[in-house]
Amino acid sequence: MHKPFSTEPTGPAETIESIGTMGIAELTETEPIATTGIIEPTETEPTGTTGITQIIETYSPEETFALGEQIGGQCRPGQIYTLTGDLGVGKTVFTQGVARGLGITETVSSPTFTILQVYEGGRLPFYHFDVYRIADVEEMEEIGYEDCFYGEGVCLIEWADLIREILPEHYCRIVIEKEPEKGFDYRRIRIEER
Ligand code: ADP
Ligand code: MG
Repeated sequence: MHKPFSTEPTGPAETIESIGTMGIAELTETEPIATTGIIEPTETEPTGTTGITQIIETYSPEETFALGEQIGGQCRPGQIYTLTGDLGVGKTVFTQGVARGLGITETVSSPTFTILQVYEGGRLPFYHFDVYRIADVEEMEEIGYEDCFYGEGVCLIEWADLIREILPEHYCRIVIEKEPEKGFDYRRIRIEER
């Protein structure tokens, strides 16, 4: 089985935890995937998941940033993260954390008019894609995405569902969701190794 993502001992296939002061969340609050340890492949999503999923709950932007920073501190050359979630959910906050974890001091923002922003100042090159405005995957070819995906840096792709057909077999999928009944600043962050 490939282990493209984790440098840590994985422990149980499913863990749920909170960052910061909130303590350990109740396992009973999670969806079925969090108790089976197996993600059911669907028709629209690539198969080949390792079945390792973590669910992390954050209660502030700082906690989401800290999670990104922790991941950025651990990530290795060639790793690819996809980031999925509605506008304003915290994808950029998370990305800024990853950049900080990689030792990048430059300001990281959502690349509004460019698909790709490259940051060279950290421990590894950081390729930040935001494909929200992409019309055709050919645009990815034009910017030479393969050199990033299959290079020595770390890729993070916002709105990656729009370029699903060119995603590699293995990557780490991160989904951020709100849950209004848990408060305005609550975010549920699912990290799936595929
Ligand atoms: P996206 O890139 O997904 O469109 P942003 O990261 O730009 O979203 O914005 C997220 C907004 O939500 C920010 O204003 C941030 O302060 C706020 N926010 C509130 N709670 C959280 C949280 N737990 N995690 C991340 N962002 C949060
Ligand atoms: Mg953004």
